[in-house]
Amino acid sequence: MPRLKMDHMSTTEPTVFERIIAREIPATIVYEDERIIAFQDIAPKAPVHLLVVPKTSAYANVTELAAGDPALLADLVGVAQILADDHAGGQYRLIFNTGERVGQTVFHVHAHVLGVELSEGTLGF
Ligand code: AMP
Repeated sequence: MPRLKMDHMSTTEPTVFERIIAREIPATIVYEDERIIAFQDIAPKAPVHLLVVPKTSAYANVTELAAGDPALLADLVGVAQILADDHAGGQYRLIFNTGERVGQTVFHVHAHVLGVELSEGTLGF
């Protein structure tokens, strides 16, 4: 069973995403509801590059989220589709980096929504 990092909330500095959620730093927000926020990636790797982020900081990655709150993961995928409909003609690539060695830099679970005319060769951006 994956370990849930519930200690994450109290013992570590807020991540950049927590600071965006708290409106402490600016972001171009494209979607928000009670549990999820989405905004433009500051360093886009595709013509459309959005981040979909649960507001809770209880889960560091998608494995933890799937184990701890599968309904929230399903909602996050639903938001990705809404964003793809609005920004990318309905088709999208969904990426969850999970672990430092594959490039995860923010340990607050988030999905990258990439879109528009991607080819298979760009998978690893
Ligand atoms: P990852 O590498 O999967 O952890 O993704 C973190 C993403 O957050 C990267 O694509 C960054 O470009 C993005 N990012 C970091 N800081 C900001 C910020 N202030 N606003 C928007 N996106 C950010």
